[in-house]
Amino acid sequence: ITRAIWFRRDLRLNDNTALAKALENTSDDDKVFLFFHIDPNLNQTFDAQHDYFFQTLKALVDDAGHKGAEFHFIEGEPERAFDELLDTVDIDEVYFNSDEAGYGRDRDQRITKKLEGHDVLVYSFIDHHLHGAEEVEKKSGGYYKVFTPYYKQWKKVQKPAVQKVDLEKLAEHTIDETDAFSHGKQAFESLLKKSDRSFEDIGESPAREQLNHFLDDAVYDYDEQRDFPAVEGTSRMSKFLRTGAISIRTVYHAVNDQVDYRKNTEGVETFISELAWRDFYNMIHHFYPNAWDEEMVEKYRGLPWNDDEELFERWKDGKTGYPIVDAAMRQLNETGWMHNRLRMTVASFLTKDMLMDWRKGERYFAEKLVDYEPSSNIGGWQWAASTGTDPVPYFRVFNPTRQSERFDPHGRFIKEWIPELEHVSEKYIHSPSKMPDNEQEKSKCIIGEDYPEPIVDHKTMRVRAIEMFEDKK
Ligand code: FAD
Repeated sequence: ITRAIWFRRDLRLNDNTALAKALENTSDDDKVFLFFHIDPNLNQTFDAQHDYFFQTLKALVDDAGHKGAEFHFIEGEPERAFDELLDTVDIDEVYFNSDEAGYGRDRDQRITKKLEGHDVLVYSFIDHHLHGAEEVEKKSGGYYKVFTPYYKQWKKVQKPAVQKVDLEKLAEHTIDETDAFSHGKQAFESLLKKSDRSFEDIGESPAREQLNHFLDDAVYDYDEQRDFPAVEGTSRMSKFLRTGAISIRTVYHAVNDQVDYRKNTEGVETFISELAWRDFYNMIHHFYPNAWDEEMVEKYRGLPWNDDEELFERWKDGKTGYPIVDAAMRQLNETGWMHNRLRMTVASFLTKDMLMDWRKGERYFAEKLVDYEPSSNIGGWQWAASTGTDPVPYFRVFNPTRQSERFDPHGRFIKEWIPELEHVSEKYIHSPSKMPDNEQEKSKCIIGEDYPEPIVDHKTMRVRAIEMFEDKK
């Protein structure tokens, strides 16, 4: 029997359900065939995540090589690519970790049908999330729309165990003649050549190291420190979870096995609840397939968003005159990551202070984030825009200056990202436009020249945002 394992966004050898199950069933003369499909749709993704993803894939190919296993690539439109695959290798069974939302879900359905039409057995698994979209159900049936009751139920459902992969079997049974797939290999190599950004942490080992680092210490204070962008108070696991360099089960069980519950458990519990948010948004996207383009709350469809491109450019470039917003956008543009507190702040600023369409912000994040996950990003944006299923209420508009005072009290984060404000005193760091002339000279920051005036007035825009929503009621 030949079993093909189709890798997608699960770029790891350890705790990988599809791989573990395929190998579990493999014995005697059976063969395994590891492959990745280079879908033209992947070219629609943007530079940062594209580069990071393919470099992680390269790390996986190398890791597999060290274990004596060969990786293969097919490329092109999914149907055609799979036809070629079936023509070339006599495959009996295909194993993969399924996508439950977005493009991946549609493609999986199409390819499953094709494979089954060729008498290939298809085994697909819930692997990207602790609980799949349909696993946490209301007692009365149906699915949750609000996080808190979802989370209560989520906690009660038994968590899947870590999947042990028999890596020795992998080497013994791997199919390694590669000639037939040289096209795919070339396509992969040319993608790698194009991906010229360099990143610090790529692949399984750095993912595990980062997790251990977080569990050694920061997890205990997570509940208190996770809102302060100047502090490394969060796990930084998102890019690894996005590429699948680490499994969500490994993360969850490591927390349970490694933490010392005699220390502060609030931090640990809060962290676990964030993992549940990831499942929650996957579930929401599964049940609202149009959520990437359409407000989940029907009455808020067609809000009269502002489409002033110049304002939008200022937001993107981190030149709004609100230091916390600008510092956050510069962090995003430069590193491909933004702190969660700031994702909420800049998303609120774009939608409520600038009255701009959340879709624009969602697309911009897609372009820049290394950890871009459609379900979490759409969920986060529709939360901030007050158009999602469990959003921030439209009348509770974030005050960006207040956010800055609370979460970056000394302006440390602001100064890290906005050198123009380096010498501004703590008194004015959150609203530099209030500096009197002598203070501007002293801090070598002339407002309007070195750093912009605020592009909007928060108080005025807050009222307008509330009115915009109330007009729709
Ligand atoms: P930690 O605080 O250490 O959290 C651990 C893990 O839990 C994260 O890696 C992530 O997988 C998950 N998680 C945490 N918070 C959330 C959340 N609110 N929703 C869903 N999952 C969560 N997260 C993404 O992974 N990709 C995105 O594209 C994305 N876009 C966002 C857009 C907006 C507007 C907002 C408000 C949030 C978005 N988030 C997104 C959620 C969150 O900001 C990031 O997951 C988090 O900042 C990643 O850093 P971390 O790994 O240090 O997080």
